[in-house]
Amino acid sequence: MASGTSTAAAVKLRITEIFASVQGESTRVGLPTVFVRLTGCPLRCTWCDTAYAFTGGESRTLDEVMAEVARHGLEHVCVSGGEPLSQKACLALLSALCDAGYSVSLETSGALDVGAVDPRVSRVVDLKAPGSGEVERNLYANIALLTPHDEIKIVLAGEADYEWAKRQIAQHRIAERCTVLLSPVAGALDPARLAEWVVRDRLPVRFQLQLHKVLWNDARGR
Ligand code: SF4
Repeated sequence: MASGTSTAAAVKLRITEIFASVQGESTRVGLPTVFVRLTGCPLRCTWCDTAYAFTGGESRTLDEVMAEVARHGLEHVCVSGGEPLSQKACLALLSALCDAGYSVSLETSGALDVGAVDPRVSRVVDLKAPGSGEVERNLYANIALLTPHDEIKIVLAGEADYEWAKRQIAQHRIAERCTVLLSPVAGALDPARLAEWVVRDRLPVRFQLQLHKVLWNDARGR
């Protein structure tokens, strides 16, 4: 049987970028974090801000990725994409990061099964609203797998998306399982309006803005 080291050397991932920044979303917002952005995504959300991660990237071994993460010297690591789970080796990466003692989160589209993700990982799972153009891709079976350690994120392009999100939250009792994050699509929905709707309707959610957009206007690698 192969040793752990040789296994890690054999596992390959396609990586768009690895960089340090502050976490821009989720309940970890503001925490200094290393981001590992995996290449590839089977979805095409209308408002996607990481289309540069759809193709290209570099092939790296798991050992190389772990060494690059360690070089940044931070406690928190976020594995993102693209859709990171579209690469099978993502699961090995997540477990290796947990084994190494990092506090690990995963940002995923909600279109792929999150059931095999290491339970030490905080899963931040999108629920795609109709305005994304990808509402048919939601894998609703994921919701039943979530725990208070995980989060659901719904990005809203307008009032119709907001009303849809309200119905989903109630119908699937999502807020009883985990934190629900609502955020506006930049330039499409006025953040103040969304904040007002959330308060008006007493929704059991957390309103959020993407901090990295406020700070760096979505510059790549920030
Ligand atoms: S799932 Fe994420 S990376 Fe893929 S198209 Fe949608 S927003 Fe972009």
